[in-house]
Amino acid sequence: MPYAIRGVIWFGMYVAVVVVPLVFAVIGVADEGRGFWREFAVALGFVGLSMLGLQFVLVARLQTVAAPFGEDALVHFHRYMGYAGTAFILAHPVLLIVLVDPSYLERVNPVTAPWAGRFGTLSILCLLVVIVTSVWRLALRISYEVWQGIHLVLSTVAIAAALVHVELIHHYVNQPWKRALWVLMTAGFLGVFCWVRIIRPILRTRRPWTVAAVDKEIGGVSTVTLRPDGHRGFTFAPGQFGWLSVHRSPFALTQHPFSFSSNGDDQATLQMSIKELGDFTRTVASIAPGTRAYVDGPHGVFSPDRHSGPGFVFLAGGVGIGPIMSMLRTFAARDERRPAYLFYGVNRLGDATFRDEIDRLAGHLSLTVSYVIVDPPADWPGERGRIDAGVLRRGLPANYQALQYFICGPGAMQDAMEDVLGSLGVPPGHVHTERFNFV
Ligand SMILES: Cc1cc2nc3c(=O)[nH]c(=O)nc-3n(C[C@H](O)[C@H](O)[C@H](O)COP(=O)(O)OP(=O)(O)OC[C@H]3O[C@@H](n4cnc5c(N)ncnc54)[C@H](O)[C@@H]3O)c2cc1C
Repeated sequence: MPYAIRGVIWFGMYVAVVVVPLVFAVIGVADEGRGFWREFAVALGFVGLSMLGLQFVLVARLQTVAAPFGEDALVHFHRYMGYAGTAFILAHPVLLIVLVDPSYLERVNPVTAPWAGRFGTLSILCLLVVIVTSVWRLALRISYEVWQGIHLVLSTVAIAAALVHVELIHHYVNQPWKRALWVLMTAGFLGVFCWVRIIRPILRTRRPWTVAAVDKEIGGVSTVTLRPDGHRGFTFAPGQFGWLSVHRSPFALTQHPFSFSSNGDDQATLQMSIKELGDFTRTVASIAPGTRAYVDGPHGVFSPDRHSGPGFVFLAGGVGIGPIMSMLRTFAARDERRPAYLFYGVNRLGDATFRDEIDRLAGHLSLTVSYVIVDPPADWPGERGRIDAGVLRRGLPANYQALQYFICGPGAMQDAMEDVLGSLGVPPGHVHTERFNFV
């Protein structure tokens, strides 16, 4: 089934699950005299709760759900739906207090509230902390790992507390068919949680990988080579990525996403080329061969395998060359004859990771390589500065608008490339990006 249709179906299912809880508030409520605003406020609370339950599904790394959209799009959607769901939940007590009865204030104040109100308030407080720490993580100097722990624990507590709140109030889930629907929805959300946090990690413990080598590349990058330990490994579409855990069990909260840089058709070897950046990546160069690792993958939609065309253009900067190398190596293994153009932006020629291999591949594939150098040697005959419209016009053929473009590099470069390609009239559907900072 085409990805566009699958995307529409998944989105329709999302909307359906979000609105289903409206039946709790608007259909067959026993007491007719409760008034519109009270039921409206309750309906908002149910919709918000349903959206928050679905938040787990959006970032559950379910390949079938992510396939039409890409994981980065799902993470962005997750972020905005988190704000929207919290706003709905927050609106629930606010509307009750403002429009229905000011005495509701006593039912949300933890000191005076009954237990149902206390759990509701607990849920809202947890959600507010989640939002504040997510939006202002860097300003609050919270490390990624600590933030991830706060995010997971508090969102789980928020949803559990909201479920207890509904259960204790009982009024909206007391009829047998509502009760059945309520139990089904709760079980569904719980099921996704157990799948992501318990069952999938158990399955991954049965598919360990061994670090075969860690090689230092030029440009401050280390390539980790992994081999499957007791299983057949997997193939992937060149350009995809996996979540790596080293020195940790698959149950660990933190795993790091890295693009594969090896030939995607070779299921017995996985490589990831990693730039030193922070706590984890600084340890990569010292990982000892023989170390056990776990890989959750393959994930992602950034691949020429998904976007056929008469040829390909690769725009790489920094460690963004990793997934592009995977595409070139896979092309070489497949004896790909369609033309490809690589524009590789670096500060100095000596920073160009994989340069020797890229030059060798240029002789083997139908590949034209342009190094675009900010600070080139005086006698450099090639392109200088940064990749821009002029560089692309000089390096691309007349049918450039028909080619498929793959951009991977620092955020500012990606933004600039998307603008440049737009100004050159390349259709947006031909421009594909992998952002290394989607979370
Ligand atoms: C799809 C994708 C593919 C990537 N491919 C590569 C690659 O091929 N090579 C490469 O060098 N880097 C890649 N990255 C970036 C890499 O994941 C981060 O640089 C790395 O996780 C930083 O971890 P740290 O502890 O060393 O740095 P920190 O200083 O802890 O974090 C730096 C930043 O990296 C991000 N980050 C940190 N930890 C995580 C985590 N567990 N999960 C997600 N993001 C995190 C956060 O935005 C954080 O602000 C990729 C990222 C994504 C999203």
